[in-house]
Amino acid sequence: MKDVRKELERLSSEIEEHQYLYYVKNQPKISDLEFDQLFSKLQKLESEYPELVSPNSPTRRVGSDLSNDFKKFNHKIPVLSLENTYSTQELIDWATKLDLDELYSLEWKVDGASIVLYYRNGSLEHAVTRGTGGVGDDITENIRTIKNIPLRIKEKSELIVRGEVYMTFTDFEEFNKENSGKYANPRNLVSGSIKQKHSYQVASRPLKIVVYDAFSPEIKKFSTHSDWMDFLKLMKFPVSEDMEFHKVSNFSKIIEKFRKKKEKLNFPTDGMVIKLNSMKRREILGNTTHSPRWARALKFDATLKETIILDIDFAIGRTGKITPRAKIEPVELLGTTVTYATLHNQDYINEKKIGIGARVLVAKRGEIIPAVEEVLEISKQGIFRLPDRCPTCSTKLIKIDESVDYFCTNTKCKARVLNSLIFFCQKKQMDIEGLGEKQITNFFETETIQSIPDIYDLHLKREELENREGLGKKSVDIILKGIEVSKNKDLRFLLPSLGFSEIGHRVTEFLRDAGYKNIDEIIQVAQSESGRDRFLSIHGLGERTVDSILSVFQNPIHLKLISDLKERGLKFSFDEINKSKEQIFSGQTWCITGSFDNFQPREKAVEIIKIYGGSVTTSVTNKTSVLLAGEKAGSKLDKAQKLNTKILNESEFLDLLKSFGIKWD
Ligand code: AMP
Ligand code: ZN
Repeated sequence: MKDVRKELERLSSEIEEHQYLYYVKNQPKISDLEFDQLFSKLQKLESEYPELVSPNSPTRRVGSDLSNDFKKFNHKIPVLSLENTYSTQELIDWATKLDLDELYSLEWKVDGASIVLYYRNGSLEHAVTRGTGGVGDDITENIRTIKNIPLRIKEKSELIVRGEVYMTFTDFEEFNKENSGKYANPRNLVSGSIKQKHSYQVASRPLKIVVYDAFSPEIKKFSTHSDWMDFLKLMKFPVSEDMEFHKVSNFSKIIEKFRKKKEKLNFPTDGMVIKLNSMKRREILGNTTHSPRWARALKFDATLKETIILDIDFAIGRTGKITPRAKIEPVELLGTTVTYATLHNQDYINEKKIGIGARVLVAKRGEIIPAVEEVLEISKQGIFRLPDRCPTCSTKLIKIDESVDYFCTNTKCKARVLNSLIFFCQKKQMDIEGLGEKQITNFFETETIQSIPDIYDLHLKREELENREGLGKKSVDIILKGIEVSKNKDLRFLLPSLGFSEIGHRVTEFLRDAGYKNIDEIIQVAQSESGRDRFLSIHGLGERTVDSILSVFQNPIHLKLISDLKERGLKFSFDEINKSKEQIFSGQTWCITGSFDNFQPREKAVEIIKIYGGSVTTSVTNKTSVLLAGEKAGSKLDKAQKLNTKILNESEFLDLLKSFGIKWD
C-alpha cells in the first residue's frame, strides 16, 4: 500500500513536470506518445486503488497553461481534455460499445492552443485559455486580433464556443524565416503568441482559429452536434471543412481517408476527434473529471503501427544477456518492412502484458530498432515467460546488480562465445572481410574457430579449408587476407572488439585522448596503486567505468587473451592522429546520422572531422553546427530541420572535403 502511494506520487509529479514543460515552457522533453503512456499508467493505477487518489492528481484536471501575466477567469463550463488512443481498432471498439447505431462526427484534431470564447448580447466578452480546466487566463485583448474570429454575432443568447488557435504551415514558415528560424514548430509559436503582453504583438502574427463545440444555457433547439455546427457556420464561425458524420460501420474507411489526407494539410493536426452526434446521448453519458465520455481522440503517429505477435523467440548475446523479440505480422514503418520487434526483458513483458497472439502497437523511433510499445488486446495464451535457464548451456539465468535483465554467467557458454566472435569481426569492430555472421557461425560449428586467437591461426589450415565444400581457393584467399589486414588495426578498434565490460568505442577514445599510446601503458596503470585515481582524472570516465577497467586489466584470463593475440602479431597501439594544421572545422560541433557509401563504418567520417578540428556529438541540439546526413537518416534529420541546423548530405560533404584538398580514403 505504501509503495502504491509512492508510485502514485512519483507518476503524478513526473506528469506535472512534463505538463509544465509542454504547456508553460513550450519545451516538451518527451514525445506525445510517451506522455500519454505515463498518463494511462497513472489512470490505471488509480482505478485499481481509488481510495488513494489525490484530489490534486493530474488525472483530475487537464494540463495547465496558466501564466502570471493575465487575469484569471472561472470557466462557466468544465473545459475538459480528451481520452485518446493511437489505435484505430481501439477507437472502433470504444464506439461499438458506446453506440453502434448512432452517428458520430469525425473531425481533425487541430494542434494549436485551446481557447474558449464567451459571447453575450451578440458580442465577444471573454476569450480564455483552457488553464486548469476550471480556471483559465483571460486573454481577450490578444484573441480579438485574430482575424477570422467574429467579434459580433447575430445570436443574442449567451453562447460559449470552444476552438483551437493555430497557424498554417505556410504562414509559420514565412514568419519563422523573418525571425531567423527561432521557432521549433507552429504549435509552439501559437502558444507563445497568444500570451504576448501587448495585443499589437499578437496582431502581427498570422493566427487563425477553428471552432468545434458550442454550449448555451439558453439555446435549447439543437438536438445534434451537426445542428450546432451549422448554426456556428451561420454565425460566421470557421468550422472545420472536413467534418463528416458516420456510423461505426464506416469508421475504418473514413479514418484511413483522414490518415492519407493528413500529409497534404496545410495546418498541424495530431489526429482526429470522434464525437457522438446526439446532444441528448452526450448529456446522459456526461463527463469524467478529466474528459467527456462521448468523445475520443485518435492520435496519428507515423512511427507507430498496429500488428499481431506471431511468435516470441529469445537469444543469448555475447554478454550473456537474454533478449526476447517478437516476430510480428509484417508492417510498413517509415519506409521499411518490419518483421521483428524487441521486447527488452521480462519486466517489460510483464508490465505490458505481452504474449503470443496479442494485438500490439509497434514503434520505430529514429535509428532505434522497433519495439512493442503497447498491448491493445491481451493474448489468450497469457503473458509470455522467458525460460529461467540458458537455452544453450542450461545455466540458471540471474539478474546482475540492479539490472532488469537476466544473464547466463557461464563464460564458456557456446551462444556467448559465438556471439563474441561475430561481434569481433563486425564492420564496426575489426571489420574482417569474408568473416560475416554466416561464415563465423559455420567455422564455429565445425570447430575450426573456437576463440579469437583461433582466427589468427586460421592460415595454418589453408589447405584443408580450400578443399572444403562451399569455400574454395578464392574465398579462402579473401578471408585470410582480411585477417592479415586486421592485424594492423588501430587499438581504437581492437580494444572495443574484445568485448570487455564497459570498454567500448567511447571509453577507448577517452583513453587515447588522455594520452595513452598502447595497451601496455593502460595495463601498467590499471595494475598500479594510483591506477584508480589516474583513470578517474580522465574526462568522461566515471567510477563504474573505472572500476570495470581496473578489473578487466587485472583479470588473468583477459591478460592471457591479450598476450595470445600479441604473439600472433596484433598491434595493440593507437595510431597517431595527425592533427592537420588547417583546422577548418575548428569550433564546430557536428552530428552524424544515417549511412554512407564512402565512410564505412561511419566512424571514418567522425575521424576526419576530428582531425580537422571539429567535435562530434551523438545528438542534434541547438548547439549543433552541422548535421551530416547519410542514407536512411531518421529522427535526427527531422530535428535538425526543425531547428534549422545546417544539413549536408554525403556528396555535399565530399565536395566540401575536396574544396579543401582533403582525401578521405
Ligand atoms: P488533449 O490536448 O490531449 O487534452 O486533447 C484535447 C484538446 O484537443 C482540446 O482541449 C482541444 O484543444 C484540442 N482539439 C483540437 N481539435 C479538436 C476538436 N475537433 N474537437 C475537440 N478538441 C479538439
Ligand atoms: Zn549459456
